[in-house]
Amino acid sequence: MFVLEYKVKPKPQQVQAIEEAIRTHQFVRNKVLRYWMDNRGKGKTELFRYNTDLRAEYEFVKDLNSHACQTAVERVLRSITKFFDNCQKNKPGKKEDATPRAVNAQGKAHQAGYPKFQKHNRSVEYKTSGWKLDPQTKKHINFTDKKNIGRLKLIGSKNLYYFQPEQIKRVRIVCRADGYYVQFVIKLDPRDTVKPFSVTGKCIGIDVGLKEFYADSNGYKQPIPQFYRKSERQLNRANRKKSKKYQRGKPQSFNYHKARKRYARKHLKVSRQREEYCKRVAYSVIQSNDLVAYEDLNVQGMIKNRKLAKSISDAGWSSFRQWLEYFGYKYGKATVAVAPQYTSQICSHCGAKVKKSLSTRTHVCQCGYTEDRDVNAAINILQKGLSTVGYTGTHYAWGETSSSLVEEILLGYGDSMNQEYPRL
Ligand SMILES: [Zn+2]
Repeated sequence: MFVLEYKVKPKPQQVQAIEEAIRTHQFVRNKVLRYWMDNRGKGKTELFRYNTDLRAEYEFVKDLNSHACQTAVERVLRSITKFFDNCQKNKPGKKEDATPRAVNAQGKAHQAGYPKFQKHNRSVEYKTSGWKLDPQTKKHINFTDKKNIGRLKLIGSKNLYYFQPEQIKRVRIVCRADGYYVQFVIKLDPRDTVKPFSVTGKCIGIDVGLKEFYADSNGYKQPIPQFYRKSERQLNRANRKKSKKYQRGKPQSFNYHKARKRYARKHLKVSRQREEYCKRVAYSVIQSNDLVAYEDLNVQGMIKNRKLAKSISDAGWSSFRQWLEYFGYKYGKATVAVAPQYTSQICSHCGAKVKKSLSTRTHVCQCGYTEDRDVNAAINILQKGLSTVGYTGTHYAWGETSSSLVEEILLGYGDSMNQEYPRL
């Protein structure tokens, strides 16, 4: 699966129609979720049947294409599955994931990411009906259900001609801070479009850090780019301006909403920039190595640790990792996630444990080996990676992911990189 994205510029009455479709999508989703909560034990079939009932009951639900309603049910099913998965693995979800009701009723459920109602849905998803591409131009799409969105021009350089219409599995309309986008989810294995990279005979271990973007087992350090810090300052400023205009307990002023939108646009710009950067770096790492080992970090946990928090979330490590795995899959290279225990403590030369605090930047061992702390860690990561190949199963993870999960992952960012997304 991969995604092509186009910007669209709907007319005011089309904006209304799109918003109406998005609201309906959210309505169906929340209704179905409520139904599931009130009727524990109801499965897939019942939820879809309930969706059919909703269509009979509400005119505005019926106006939305029937498959688009189904995708709303699918989203509920996905969050339910994820919740049960988390429970089984005993993996705590994000706290915000729980509804207050769930918190009171079941402390445990709240821990594991109980499915929540959606408040600010920003997209509507069609399947293979309810829309039509203009066969002449292939640069226009017509939404044909009763929401009356109508014809939209697709703005962007990528060409839909490459693909057969039946390869387009989903069409989404997405609302972002800077306008509306139409995404086409296309059934295509990324490996079908490229030749694998040639064999380099090289392996690499990567240690992501707070000081550098990463340090590798060859002693190379990729610096954190300047724009990270710069954009952080800009974001903070925009955020402060927004907070100043916020009035507690009152309807917000026009100026507040102006500042809020400005902040959102800034955020979007920054996330696109960072994504682009991660993508570029990951691509070159995959290109010049046959095996890439990195730590299987619990980034969520690290973000909770407030001292480390900012830098890790900031450094975009999870996005970097997803790009590594995606390109690894696409170009036929191995990517291995290793357990992060002791990678920075053990001496990569003799195996002795050398305790050090976070502020100790150099690894000095009794055996006489001295190395930069992060480089030493990267070497350990590589050694672990080489010894566990075939074990962790995270390599080629991208290709094995079920299609629905990939779709979840596929909600991407912006038009500058609309060729491919490995992720959410
Ligand atoms: Zn040593």
